[in-house]
Amino acid sequence: MTAQIDFNPPSKFRHTKVQENNAPDVLPAIAAHDVSMSFQTGKQTFQALQQVNLKVSRGDVHLLMGPSGSGKTTLLSILAGILTPTEGRVELLGQEITRLSRSKLAQFRLNHIGFIFQGFNLFPALNALENVALALTVKGVSERTARLEAMNLLEQVGLADRAKNMPKEMSGGQKQRVAIARALAGQPPLIMADEPTAALDSHNGHAVIELLRRLAKENDHTVLMVTHDPRIVDVADQVTYLEDGMIKGGKNLKL
Ligand code: ADP
Ligand code: MG
Repeated sequence: MTAQIDFNPPSKFRHTKVQENNAPDVLPAIAAHDVSMSFQTGKQTFQALQQVNLKVSRGDVHLLMGPSGSGKTTLLSILAGILTPTEGRVELLGQEITRLSRSKLAQFRLNHIGFIFQGFNLFPALNALENVALALTVKGVSERTARLEAMNLLEQVGLADRAKNMPKEMSGGQKQRVAIARALAGQPPLIMADEPTAALDSHNGHAVIELLRRLAKENDHTVLMVTHDPRIVDVADQVTYLEDGMIKGGKNLKL
């Protein structure tokens, strides 16, 4: 991928080196500290997350797994700053996002997080190329550069020939790949994805996993994914299991 986008990680992050013994960075890319989340529906309070602690190392492909309803989407949304937890703190790249104002948080997310939503969230009135290019123009990239880079990203997800298609003219799998290309626009150092391969066949699922893994390994990006997909476990570095809103264990797959 061509890097035309300015990206300035916080200075204390820029020079952190992976230690010789391959120990993870002292400063994790993503950290949740005692995060709890409750939802109020009418008079009922539902505790979706309870005191979750999680650290994701920079450059890792880290999976969040667990049964349906265990709180995976809620946790991912909190880690991406989309939802505010009822309790606890979230740090991304050394920045405590739970302390940022709304506008500072929006800016931080724009510059640092590529998010792939479970339902794709494409703009229905924009074609595939425009959906991806928009993610770049909102970051201040010129229209022309944005279109070139968007085409490049669509090629990487195998959709160059669908650039002019509207979302309603694409299959679920194709829309999912557009959403992935859009999340990668501008090379955000943190990529968060909610079941990114759920609508993909085995060939395209593999291509997407390989692309995400390559980004993590070559560019030192961090990929946090919610998934049920056993194919992904093979290429992951770390898995965290969630059950009833609590961490039920984890596995380091690097060893
Ligand atoms: P998962 O992604 O693991 O399937 P979710 O994080 O979507 O689980 O949901 C966890 C639990 O929180 C579920 O029981 C769900 O019904 C509840 N929940 C999620 N979002 C809301 C909401 N906005 N209001 C009320 N309950 C919610
Ligand atoms: Mg979910």
